[in-house]
Amino acid sequence: MPITLALVAHDRMKPALAGWAARHAGDLAPHAIVSTATTGATIRAECPDLAIRLVKSGPLGGDQQIGGMIANGEIQALIFFPDPLTPQAHDVDVKALLRIALVYDIPAAFSPATADLLVAGGLLATR
Ligand code: PGA
Repeated sequence: MPITLALVAHDRMKPALAGWAARHAGDLAPHAIVSTATTGATIRAECPDLAIRLVKSGPLGGDQQIGGMIANGEIQALIFFPDPLTPQAHDVDVKALLRIALVYDIPAAFSPATADLLVAGGLLATR
């Protein structure tokens, strides 16, 4: 069954997430994608055929919007590549997003290796 998944990455990790999306573009195609603004623009440039709904940029509330959508049951998986080496002005929002993904126990991956494992485990299988 198609799902809605959120794709978010901090600036230094955006190329890694766009690369991940490109590698899995065929598997992602049947699903709905929601991204924070700059992440979504980066993925679109790499994968123009993927339909991506944009919310606000993370530092402007986009992480909170995605967290709200998880709480509402509108997002079933989170692929989020945070930058482990750079302090973020919106660190509290980042923490809140991680927390809400845990509260609702949605499949979540925070690195390319684990995102690949989610796909290998059938995250994007449509039946
Ligand atoms: P961005 O937001 O995609 O707009 O950069 C992501 C984030 O920093 O959480």
